[in-house]
Amino acid sequence: MNICVVGTGYVGLVSGACFAEFGLRVTCVDKDRARIDALKNGRIPIYELGLEEMVNRNLREGRLSFTTEIAPAIENSLVIFIAVGTPARDDGSADLSYVEAVAAQIASHLNGYKIIATKSTVPVGTGRRLREIIGQVRREKVDFDVVSNPEFLREGSAIEDFMRPDRVIIGAESPQAVAIMQDLYRPLFMLETPFIMTDVATAEMIKYASNTFLATKVSFINEIANLCELMEADVDQVAKGMGLDHRIGGEFLHPGPGFGGSCFPKDIQALSSLARQRGYDFEIINAVQRVNEGQPRRMLEKIAGAVGGIRGRTLGVLGLSFKPNTNDIRESPALTIVQGLLEGGAMVRAYDPAAMEDAKQALHGIIYCQDAYEAAKGAEALIVLTEWSQFRNLDLARVRELLQKPVFIDLRNVYDPAKVRQAGLTYLGIGRK
Ligand code: NAD
Repeated sequence: MNICVVGTGYVGLVSGACFAEFGLRVTCVDKDRARIDALKNGRIPIYELGLEEMVNRNLREGRLSFTTEIAPAIENSLVIFIAVGTPARDDGSADLSYVEAVAAQIASHLNGYKIIATKSTVPVGTGRRLREIIGQVRREKVDFDVVSNPEFLREGSAIEDFMRPDRVIIGAESPQAVAIMQDLYRPLFMLETPFIMTDVATAEMIKYASNTFLATKVSFINEIANLCELMEADVDQVAKGMGLDHRIGGEFLHPGPGFGGSCFPKDIQALSSLARQRGYDFEIINAVQRVNEGQPRRMLEKIAGAVGGIRGRTLGVLGLSFKPNTNDIRESPALTIVQGLLEGGAMVRAYDPAAMEDAKQALHGIIYCQDAYEAAKGAEALIVLTEWSQFRNLDLARVRELLQKPVFIDLRNVYDPAKVRQAGLTYLGIGRK
C-alpha cells in the first residue's frame, strides 16, 4: 500500500518511518525545503532515539521517500495522513490553518478513492470541517473518507510508543475506511494492541480528553507537593502510595516545575476554548492551567530563598528541554525559569545534552557549558531543571568542589537528599521533608 504523510515534525517523521518499517511505501511531504533536503540525505532534524537509523534503513530499502511536491504524493497514495502543527491561537483555540491548507491541497489532487486521516491533534468537529473544505474545492462528486487517527507518541520514546502503543484509536464512518485502516495497522493488530473503532468526533475527543487528564495529574501532584511543604509530609511517598492504587496509577505523579512541550499546554487550552464556544465552562482545565502557570514562579521563589535572593548570583542549571531525551524546548518550564532568573538579575551557566542549539535561538545572555560540571563551576547553586539520566548520578563530591556555594536544588526530585547532604551540599527538592 502507498501512503503519504504531510508534515515531517515529530509526529509526521516518526509515523512515516514506522509505517515504512511495517513494510508500507511511504512518501513524507513537507513544505520546508531545507528540512526535506536534510532528510533526503539521512540527516534528522530532531533528537529522537533510534530514528536516524530507522529513517536511513527505510530510505536505503526504498520504502521511504521525502519530497516537497505534494501533488504526486497524494495522487499515488491510498491514505494521506495530515501531521502538521495545530498551535494555539491568542485566544487559546487551536489554529487549524495548516490542517485546512493541506486539506484544500488534497482536495485538488484527489484522483480516486482516498482516506484523509488526521494525526494532528485537532478539535472535535475538524473531521466534519475537512469534509466541507474538500466539498467546496471539488464541486464534482469525489469519493473519499475522513478518518481521525490521533497520535499518542511521546517525544523521547516516540518509536517505542508508535510500535507498541497502549491503544490505537480510529474514528471512521465507512466500513471501507475501517478495513483499510485496520490493514495499515495490521502489525499492531497482530501484537494484540487494543483498537478502539469509533466515530470521528469521538476519536478527536479521546485525544484531548487523554492529554487533559494527564495534565490534570501533573498539576494535581504539584499542588500536593506544595501542600506537603507546608505540612512536613513527603510528596514522593504520597505519590507512591497513591500510584500503587490501580485506579490511580503511578505515572504522571512526579512533582516538578510544571508541564510543558508542544502538546499539553496548547491542547488543554484548545479543549477549554472548545468548551467555551459551546457555552460550557470546563472548570477543571482552567484550574490545571492556572496551577501550571504558577509553578515556575514558585520554583523561582524557592531558588531565591535558597541562595538569599537572585540578583547578582551566578547559578548553574541542568536541562533546558521540556523533558529528557528530546531537543524540544517548546513551552519548556526550564526555559521559563531560566528567563525568570535572568530577569531577576542572575548570571546563568546552563547545560543540556540535546537542546542547547535550539535554546540558543530562544534564550540569550546565558553561558552555555560543555557539561554539567562546567555549569557548576563557580556557581552559587546547581539547579536540576530537566531529569536527563546523565544528571541523575553526578559525582557530587566534584560538584561540591566546583560550586562556589554548596547549594543543590533538585526541581525534579531525582536525588536522595541524604546522599546529597553527605557530599556536603545543602539539598532542596520539591515537597520533600
Ligand atoms: P511540528 O511543528 O514539529 O511539525 C509540523 C511540520 O508540518 C513542520 O515541519 C511544517 O513545516 C510542516 N507543515 C506545515 N504546513 C505544511 C503544509 N501545508 N504542507 C507540508 N508540510 C507542512 O509538529 P509536531 O510536534 O509533529 O505535531 C504535529 C501535530 O501532532 C500537532 O497537532 C500536535 O499537537 C500533534 N501531536 C504531537 C505530539 C508530539 O509529541 N510532538 C504527539 C502527539 C500529537
